Amino acid sequence: MSTFQDLGLNDDLLQAITDMGFKTPSDVQAQAIPILLQEERDLVALAQTGTGKTAAFGFPMLQKIDIESRTTQGLILSPTRELCLQIANELNLYGKYCKGLNVVAIYGGASITDQAKSVKKGAQIIVATPGRMKDMISRNMVDISKIEYSVLDEADEMLNMGFYEDITDILSHTPKDKSTWLFSATMPKEVATIAKKFMHSPIEITVGSKNVGSDQVSHEYYLVNSRDRYAALKRLADANPDIFSVVFCRTKRDTQKVAEKLIEDGYNAGALHGDLSQNQRDLVMKSFRNNQIQMLVATDVAARGIDVDDITHVINYQLPDEIETYTHRSGRTGRAGKTGVSMVIVSKSELRKIKSIERIIKKNFEQKEIPSGMEICE
Ligand code: ADP
Ligand code: MG
Repeated sequence: MSTFQDLGLNDDLLQAITDMGFKTPSDVQAQAIPILLQEERDLVALAQTGTGKTAAFGFPMLQKIDIESRTTQGLILSPTRELCLQIANELNLYGKYCKGLNVVAIYGGASITDQAKSVKKGAQIIVATPGRMKDMISRNMVDISKIEYSVLDEADEMLNMGFYEDITDILSHTPKDKSTWLFSATMPKEVATIAKKFMHSPIEITVGSKNVGSDQVSHEYYLVNSRDRYAALKRLADANPDIFSVVFCRTKRDTQKVAEKLIEDGYNAGALHGDLSQNQRDLVMKSFRNNQIQMLVATDVAARGIDVDDITHVINYQLPDEIETYTHRSGRTGRAGKTGVSMVIVSKSELRKIKSIERIIKKNFEQKEIPSGMEICE
C-alpha cells in the first residue's frame, strides 16, 4: 500500500493532507497522481463515485502550476454549479499552504461580471460549468489561451447533460499541447468519442469494474401502489429517525411538491432543483451540509456529483428515466469507505426496471416491506 509521500507530492500538499485527515491515498489517487506528476500525458481515469477523483487531479494540478504567476493555467470543467463550488472549495483546502493560490468558480445563475472580475485578479485555476465558460469566452471575459492542464470531470454526466458542443467549443480556445485529464464514473460511447477527438494517446486507468456502483451500498426496493408513494416515504423516514438522505424525484415540480409536503408534515426537508434561484440553492445546500436538513429532495441535475459526508440513505421516490442515472444517485451514499442504503419506492408497473438496474450495477436488490406503524413505534 502506498502513502501520500510515496506519490511524490510536495510538503505544502502533504501538510494539507495531514490536516484534512486523509491517511492513505485511494486507488484512483495512487494510480493517477504519480502519472500526472511525472508525465506530461493525457489521462483517462474511470472510477466509481466517491473514490476521491477530485484529489486525484487536484493534487497534481496544484503541484504543477506556477503559483507565482497570475496566468490561468488550469481549467476544470464540471457539470453543475454545485460541483464547481465543491471542487473549488476542495482545491482551496488542498492548496491552503500554497501561498497566492487563486481558484475561481464560474457557473450560471450568479453575476457574470463579478465572476469576470475575480478571474481578472489572476486565477491560476478556473473551475467552470461548460455553459457559463462558453459564455465568458464569447464575451472575452477570460483568457484560456495559456492553459496547460484541462480536466473534464464527471465527463459522462457532462455529456449526458448535452454539453458536447460547449466542451468542443471551449477546448478549441485552449492550446493544442496542453494535457487533458478526463475523469468519469462510466465509459459510454460519448465519452470514448470525446477522448478520441481531444486526447493524444491517453494513459488509461480503471479502478474497480466499469459502471458498477460502490460495494458499500446495499439496494432495497419497496413495492407500493402509486398513490401510496408519499405515505411510504414518510414511513421510511419514521423508521429511520437518524436518516440523512437525498430523496430523488423525476421532475422539478414533484421535487418542490414532495419537499413542501414533508415540511408541512414536520420533517426537516428542503428542495433542490433548477427552478430555484442560485441563492436559494446555496442556502439549501448549506443547511444540508450542516445537517439542519435531514431530507434533501432533489432532481438528478441539481444533485449530480454532490459530495456530502455521511449520507445514510438515498431514496428513489421515483426511478429515473435513464436507468444509468441510478448508479449516480446511489453513489451519493457509501462514500469514502462508509456504508449506505439505496432505497427505491416502486409501483408494480416499474418492477422490470429493477431487473435492468440489477444488470447494470451487478448487484441484487432486496425486496422489503414498508415498515408498519407498530414497527416504527418500537
Ligand atoms: P469522486 O469525485 O470520485 O466522486 P470525491 O473527490 O468527491 O469523489 O471524494 C469523495 C470524498 O472522499 C470527499 O469527501 C473527499 O474529501 C474524501 N476523500 C478523498 N480522498 C480521500 C482519502 N485519500 N482519504 C480519505 N478521504 C478522502
Ligand atoms: Mg467527482
